[in-house]
Amino acid sequence: MSTTLFRNVSILDSTGADPYPGDVLVEDDRIAVVGTVDPARAEGARVIEGRGRTLMSGLCDAHTHFSWNNSADLDGLGTMPVEEHLLFCIESARTYIDSGYTMCLGAASAKDRLDVVCRDAIDAGRIPGPRYLANGPEIAVTGGALIKSITKFADGPEGMRKAVRELIELGVDQIKLSMTGEEITGTQRAEDTYFSDEEVAAAVTEAHRRGKRVCAHARSAESVRMCVRHGVDIVYHASFVDEEGLDMLEGAKDWVFVAPGLNWLVATLYEAEAFGFPQEAAEAVGYKKELEQAVKGLREMHRRGIKLLPGGDYGFAWTPHGTYARDLEHFVELLGFTPMEAILSATALGGEIMLRPHELGKVQPGYLADLILVDGDPLADITVLQDHDRLHYVMKDGRFHKESAADEAPAPDPGNMPATGTEQLVVQRA
Ligand SMILES: [Zn+2]
Repeated sequence: MSTTLFRNVSILDSTGADPYPGDVLVEDDRIAVVGTVDPARAEGARVIEGRGRTLMSGLCDAHTHFSWNNSADLDGLGTMPVEEHLLFCIESARTYIDSGYTMCLGAASAKDRLDVVCRDAIDAGRIPGPRYLANGPEIAVTGGALIKSITKFADGPEGMRKAVRELIELGVDQIKLSMTGEEITGTQRAEDTYFSDEEVAAAVTEAHRRGKRVCAHARSAESVRMCVRHGVDIVYHASFVDEEGLDMLEGAKDWVFVAPGLNWLVATLYEAEAFGFPQEAAEAVGYKKELEQAVKGLREMHRRGIKLLPGGDYGFAWTPHGTYARDLEHFVELLGFTPMEAILSATALGGEIMLRPHELGKVQPGYLADLILVDGDPLADITVLQDHDRLHYVMKDGRFHKESAADEAPAPDPGNMPATGTEQLVVQRA
């Protein structure tokens, strides 16, 4: 058995409790003990001297695209050859876990099998990456694609059923419906809704029948209502949600997740100038209005207890991979979340959206050891999670993905350690 003892850490356990000082023992791939560790049980463990740094669950990104290739040109997603594209996805997966993300939910893949191949390679230990739920190309109806070259087209209920069946055959974990437009395309408006009720119903029924969930690009008020009406499990964006949509989401809050992808709106509005999309252009097509509307609706969702998760559609030139934790800052700064609420959304709710709330997203005995050791207090400053240099350790399944030799301490010796309260211990450093 391999054992690791994180000694004298500030434990942010994602139960909602305030962080508290203590030790955490990891045995093989699971968290064994949290709080006070019996030295006899930790005998022979590898010891990481925490010195008060924060130990918390790895983070979750609820709207991930390994295959979005940091391009400024949307069509670049379609024209990149598959060989280079797979290499890019492998690098994205590594960047996610480098960034402290141990859970990611795929929100569409630019080519058929990029996501599923990466998921399987991560699961097999062939490449580093977060736990991943894979998607396929997003489904759109004729005339309703955001980027034609990466879209799977389907029309009518029969067409939807066939598309869903084909994607399930590829091995996806969930299905993506691209139901509305997106202003940056120049032709597809965010408030245009392209799917019919019958199409959404058919796609969801077929996916659920096969045990797969459905997520949707849904910016318009109408699309949000359609999502809830037909059981779309994960609603992305929801920028223009109206009162009726809010009521419907509230009525469905036991099962529905909303992931707004806020950083996309913020960065497209304010930070895309160097890539040919200045703020005036973004405002002219409506991104400022959309951000304002979205913030209003999302604050109301938060007030009503609807499950909101960070995850920002990263992977465009102005929203590059590796900047994922900006979403948590937006939750605090724009949506009025406390830092604790933002962290719970990114960890405990992450475990829920990954369908494993009993073993992911918390620092609790029996949970999988997906942990990050952070140099700083993210409750005092949520932006520390954006600084990779302050993510001193990243562990997944009890194995270190990132570590630092500077913190090694001798293994506990049950003969001369107190049974409780290790904080006062003077550690002999090698
Ligand atoms: Zn997306």
